[in-house]
Amino acid sequence: MTEQNKKNLTSSLLQEEIINYSKKTDTSSVGKIISVGDGICTVYGLDKCMLGELVEFEDKTKGMVMNLNEDSVGIVLFSSKNNVCENQIVKRTNEVVKVPVGDEVLGRVIDPLGNPMDGLKKIEYKKYRPIERVAYGVMERKSVTTPLETGIKIIDLMIPIGRGQRELIIGDRQTGKTQIALDTIINQKNKNCYCIYVAIGQKDSSVVRLVEQLKKHDCLSYTTIINAPSSELDPIKYIAPYAGVTIAEEWMEQGKDVLIVYDDLSKHAVSYRTLCLLLKRSVGREAYPGDVFYLHSRLLERSCRLSDDLKGGSITALPIIETQNGDISAYIPTNVISITDGQIFLDTEMFNSNIRPSIDVGLSVSRVGSACQFPCMKKVSKSLKIEIANYNELKAFASFGSDLDKQTAKTLKHGKLITEILKQKPYEPLPFYKMVIEMFCVNSYLLDDMNLDEVQQFIDNLYSHIELEHKDMIEYLIKNKDFDEEFSDKLNKIIKDYYTLRVKED
Ligand code: ATP
Ligand code: MG
Repeated sequence: MTEQNKKNLTSSLLQEEIINYSKKTDTSSVGKIISVGDGICTVYGLDKCMLGELVEFEDKTKGMVMNLNEDSVGIVLFSSKNNVCENQIVKRTNEVVKVPVGDEVLGRVIDPLGNPMDGLKKIEYKKYRPIERVAYGVMERKSVTTPLETGIKIIDLMIPIGRGQRELIIGDRQTGKTQIALDTIINQKNKNCYCIYVAIGQKDSSVVRLVEQLKKHDCLSYTTIINAPSSELDPIKYIAPYAGVTIAEEWMEQGKDVLIVYDDLSKHAVSYRTLCLLLKRSVGREAYPGDVFYLHSRLLERSCRLSDDLKGGSITALPIIETQNGDISAYIPTNVISITDGQIFLDTEMFNSNIRPSIDVGLSVSRVGSACQFPCMKKVSKSLKIEIANYNELKAFASFGSDLDKQTAKTLKHGKLITEILKQKPYEPLPFYKMVIEMFCVNSYLLDDMNLDEVQQFIDNLYSHIELEHKDMIEYLIKNKDFDEEFSDKLNKIIKDYYTLRVKED
């Protein structure tokens, strides 16, 4: 055979092989890795796979389909410890990404795919749910009717939250954002509310500290922690909040109330941006992909209160956003502000001057919670916001040292007292009836002349006195969540008598 004939034969064989190859291989459910890096795979084949579908690699690593291109698919990997490399086979599973749900996760620290991270025994799951779903529509919901007590005075009195509401906690780094969420979880003890804390992109040490605190305060029995630490791949951080809300939805559909904290969504947005840049999606403002609003809106829309026909459960969401230099008009903060039903704004300057929790009442708002605030709380805090605003305005004016008239001096003194009383230590959430009694003290104007350092002690002593001698007053508040004129006269008299007695003693 001549050299030319040999060449012709080889090329025709090759051609035949190529034609038969595409016939033999079913590329609809199997694909081949073209490239892999940074937790992202580009795969040829998998023609029929769905967006969000779970796929499996040769080494049993799992991944999720995130890009459907004309001749390839983009897949994100769920584990950094893998042996995935080019030319390997990828298989469809015909299922979208799911997470395990149910009471088994209570008291546990898990990753977003349900694997335990607390070193305790393996969890036997009975039920799985897809992480993405369309939120309940208007007809399936009802308005919020029950308060979610945080136990934090400023919030419960002035920015009340209802069960089923979405309230954003926003502020610079190290201003006490996590602490507010943590105290709220601690305050749900014996209140019939399950809690989920989703840690996104945090240091493992912070999460360990948080879990220890929850354990110390005996709150793990109704709490689940979902941890996607900063060391994890971005896809894991990306799915973490959706996994959390999926677990919450299961409980909500059983008629339970659930509180979910996303700490924090700024890091979540950054993870999504990284993913999209690696997947070569086109970018928009601040290099975030165009659908970054939808990223958070479809998540937070899933929090609601269901109608009575659907057992009336609820999901209350407390997303957290970190700002840079107090700039709440940046891209992600404005997005999430517009999605939520209000925000709690934490101020760095207040935090540094030891006014903690450092909530700026002027910039904070709750759009739905006041509808279900306890009437007694509403009555005692009616003028609180105005008094604080007046005080803040006059404070700047008074710092010039000019002579003050009587009324201004009085407003300033009262403002100082209010600021002092609204300070609260971490891990010490208060029951609502104690807040009502404290506000009665403030509104009586009796304590305005007292030394500010002694005020809290005086109130604590007074409360113990009421608990001992006038228990019926507290029981009345717990039972009615409201008070009438008779009650208010009686309580005012008790406070006045106690105050007179103390002043005489001194
Ligand atoms: P990061 O931006 O790092 O997530 P953060 O805004 O979540 O910070 P925290 O971790 O909640 O802030 O709080 C920072 C520190 O301030 C903690 O040590 C916490 O104990 C303390 N702190 C928070 N709230 C109060 C408070 N009301 N009184 C006293 N200390 C507080
Ligand atoms: Mg924090």
